Amino acid sequence: MTLSEKVFKVLCDQVNAELYSSYIYLSMSSWFDSTGYSGFAKWMRAQADEEREHAMKIYDYILERNGRVILAAIPAPKSEWSSVKEVFADTLAHEQKVSAMINNIADVSFSEKDYATVEFMNWFLKEQVEEEASVGAIVDKIEMIGESKNSMYLLDRDLGKRVG
Ligand code: MG
Repeated sequence: MTLSEKVFKVLCDQVNAELYSSYIYLSMSSWFDSTGYSGFAKWMRAQADEEREHAMKIYDYILERNGRVILAAIPAPKSEWSSVKEVFADTLAHEQKVSAMINNIADVSFSEKDYATVEFMNWFLKEQVEEEASVGAIVDKIEMIGESKNSMYLLDRDLGKRVG
């Protein structure tokens, strides 16, 4: 089953988008490291690794369907933030954009009657629900505890416990 032109295009775009996500989170990780938040830096680095895995999952799927992945330029990510909250708010907004892209791939696959890709995208749809929920919870927590040095020290310590 060869991929249709349309499905191929949105999947290649998504490989790029996931690599861009990885790039954004790595940039956030680097910023956190430079500001002394080693826990947030670790969390973001794990997030960056996870995004690269997402890209490779789609990359491998394209190969499996006998496609050849065409890689495009990855835009430079933002590199400065004014607060911890701004970083996580950006993360949430970015994940919401990614969810819309994943939904679009499901839409395109469905209209192309490519049910194998619809099925493949189910994992990503569920993953996006989890991503939005986990990042949304962090944003809510920052709203609740405020951004004092004490509260950020504790949150940094908590998020630094992330494994994988
Ligand atoms: Mg992703």
